[in-house]
Amino acid sequence: MNCFNHHSNAAIAICKSCGKGVCQSCAIDKGFAVACSDSCMSEAADTHTMTSRAKRMYGLGGAKKVFPLTVAMWAIFGLLFSGLGVYRFIKSGTPEWFLLLFGAAAFFLAIATYRRVKALELNC
Ligand SMILES: [Zn+2]
Ligand SMILES: [Zn+2]
Repeated sequence: MNCFNHHSNAAIAICKSCGKGVCQSCAIDKGFAVACSDSCMSEAADTHTMTSRAKRMYGLGGAKKVFPLTVAMWAIFGLLFSGLGVYRFIKSGTPEWFLLLFGAAAFFLAIATYRRVKALELNC
């Protein structure tokens, strides 16, 4: 493929907006996209903003992906410890306060983290 503007030059990239081939001298590279003109670059930038916003909303990529994992982790901890605590209580008749308290604390943390995730999603 050759450059759309300079037919003798080989295209080094394809415009993200209109799909034309662009050579070294006409390619506009902003890091996230390569475009053939300023208008195509602003178009590509809009698309880029939309995609990254959509990614944030659905929790894809970035640091926010960690939050749901933390929620799941604390929920599992809570389930394990409180379950074990209740099991021990039924077996021996004396409550294992450490297990029950830790389980309750883990559940509380799971809920607190979950609420923080929800608040972040609403802000974007
Ligand atoms: Zn273009
Ligand atoms: Zn060119």
